[in-house]
Amino acid sequence: MNNFKIIANWKMNGSKEEVKSWINFFKDNVEHKNHSDCFFCPPACYLNNANEIISSYNLKLNLGSQDLDPDSDNPSTGGINGKMLKDLGCDYVLIGHSERRSLFSEDEEVLLKKLTSAVKHELKVIYCVGETKEQKERGLATEAIKIQLKILKGLPVDLISVAYEPVWSIGQGITPSLDSIDEMHQIIKDELKSILNTEENIAISYGGSVSVDNAASISLLNSVDGLLIGGASLNPESFSKVVNNITIQD
Ligand code: PEP
Repeated sequence: MNNFKIIANWKMNGSKEEVKSWINFFKDNVEHKNHSDCFFCPPACYLNNANEIISSYNLKLNLGSQDLDPDSDNPSTGGINGKMLKDLGCDYVLIGHSERRSLFSEDEEVLLKKLTSAVKHELKVIYCVGETKEQKERGLATEAIKIQLKILKGLPVDLISVAYEPVWSIGQGITPSLDSIDEMHQIIKDELKSILNTEENIAISYGGSVSVDNAASISLLNSVDGLLIGGASLNPESFSKVVNNITIQD
């Protein structure tokens, strides 16, 4: 079984200076007493900078990109592909975050190209899925998530993990009950076994308004293999507290 993942997604926030002080705070305060793997996903323009600082301290902190552009035969002004991300020191990439799905109209066709591209460059993927408020209210949450998961078919099991992020929870300060997180994670795990044709337990992280107050109880659920944290990851103190406070089941 993989270590418990704790992922900081900075979204479009931060500066060179903040990247430096965040990593320094992490270095001095994260205890690594748990079997946890931490991931830092700053904006793409700071990846190189973050990589240099992480490497100079030899820190146990994985670097991830929030996105990638699929390889293309056409000229792609502004694009950053998987090879470039590897070059910047990334081993991980988030794909399918709900903000990219909605604000950048990334549908399953686009996402499949991104997934294929990531895998080609041996980037480990954290594939985000989650239902909208409307889907939840109409009783369509499970169906919506199964559709999102379908495109993982045929991808290598060792490069894929999933983050369950209910869209109605992200950045809203509200989270599903522990029982419903557990239930949805079980559904996703079962579905992945069938889609990826494996008996292996694919790691599922939970994301959506994770905070210092709720992280420990969510992490205690057997079906939760990690946390994807947006807002609360910007502050190095709260991110470090989350990492230091969680208790991981063996
Ligand atoms: C996210 O950005 O994926 C996220 C879960 O954000 P927040 O923790 O702010 O809800």
